[in-house]
Amino acid sequence: MRVMSQVAMVMTLDKCIGCHTCSVTCKQAWTNRAGTEYAWFNNVETRPGQGYPRRYEDQDRWKGGWELNRRGNLKLKSGGRLKKLAQLFASPVQPELKDYYEPWTYDYQNLVNAPAGDDFPVARPKSLITGKDTKIEWSANWDDDLGGATEMGHLDPVVEKLRSEANERIKFEYEQTFMFYLPRLCEHCLNPSCMASCPSGAIYKRTEDGIVLVDQDRCRGWRQCVTGCPYKKIYYNHKSGKAEKCTFCYPRIEVGIPTVCAETCVGRMRYIGIFLYDADKVTQAAARPNEQDLYEAQLDLMLDPSDPEVIDAARRDGIPEDWLEAARKSPVYALAKTLRVALPLHPEYRTMPMVWYVPPLSPIVDLLKEQGHDGEDPDNLFGAIESLRIPVEYLAELFTAGDTELVTHVLRKLAAMRAYMRNVTLGDEPDES
Ligand code: SF4
Ligand code: SF4
Repeated sequence: MRVMSQVAMVMTLDKCIGCHTCSVTCKQAWTNRAGTEYAWFNNVETRPGQGYPRRYEDQDRWKGGWELNRRGNLKLKSGGRLKKLAQLFASPVQPELKDYYEPWTYDYQNLVNAPAGDDFPVARPKSLITGKDTKIEWSANWDDDLGGATEMGHLDPVVEKLRSEANERIKFEYEQTFMFYLPRLCEHCLNPSCMASCPSGAIYKRTEDGIVLVDQDRCRGWRQCVTGCPYKKIYYNHKSGKAEKCTFCYPRIEVGIPTVCAETCVGRMRYIGIFLYDADKVTQAAARPNEQDLYEAQLDLMLDPSDPEVIDAARRDGIPEDWLEAARKSPVYALAKTLRVALPLHPEYRTMPMVWYVPPLSPIVDLLKEQGHDGEDPDNLFGAIESLRIPVEYLAELFTAGDTELVTHVLRKLAAMRAYMRNVTLGDEPDES
């Protein structure tokens, strides 16, 4: 066993109100510079939707992440590093600016100086990059304007996949409209494909906390990391010619304060914590043949911080005492491993992502009609899964590689927790079962 520590985040999706404060404060802190105008290290997507950059989940198009070769070993989808060296002068497969969006500002002069006319003058959008008038067709959360309408969300790759599987239960009609917000940042993966893709060896994972960073001096701007990251969470700075990404606010973490996005979150939906894991088993875990086993594989890597054997091994491997203490109190460990209510985003990409999500517990449509409240009775939920507003299949495609049973189990647990807390709050006798 080789014990290492990892900082990670859990987001409780029911609490996100889609205010984008996290994205704006992150931008002010990290990407408010020439060359990174289009980059949002933290962004909040409306789901269903295309995401940012649009259709990033269309892995056949971008060739991101890992796959298994015929012998069952992990291989970068975009080719190995040696192949990369042979392709150095070839263009990497990556989203274009139009897939992110061309940032703009408004030219308010027109409001003041426009000649008298029949129409009310408007402020013209101007590109922040070229300074010229621009037509706005797409931006970081365009899907928000679509209100999550599933008919309009048909370009969501997850919806498309479910449709192509002729899933009769999911009709995606206006009456069945659903939406929720999905904040995203770099996953600081245990098995990062951005790092493996880099021909210059410029990307590294810090041993002390697992934060994945780009060494700006070593980066040669090949952009293979943009191809290699399946979450498309590493960006090319077109001014400096280097790659940049979320740093998990490491200067703040080092002095014991949370990331900017977590500290400013209006919904208080982000939890940060550390956990200990067995670094010797990461590659083996990521190469589990069955995609639906990858969630369990991630959990298996997490070590019990109260286990004396783990504590001894951690001390031997140089984990400081205050980190051991933090690991024991970690909300990430509690929500992901002890309670098992937090799930990783797209575990099938095999990078072992370290941002976890408590899925949204949507109302049960039938109970809503009958009783007029959320219907959080866990027994009813079990029977009524067919009429949850957000289709379980949709959540399963995002968080469990299609395992609907697992998502159902998590939702039931959440419903039970909510019912229990409602009883406690109302002063009723809580049902301990
Ligand atoms: Fe690298 Fe972050 Fe992408 Fe993982 S999510 S592959 S750590 S850029
Ligand atoms: Fe959601 Fe919090 Fe970001 Fe607001 S600040 S969009 S509540 S994650």
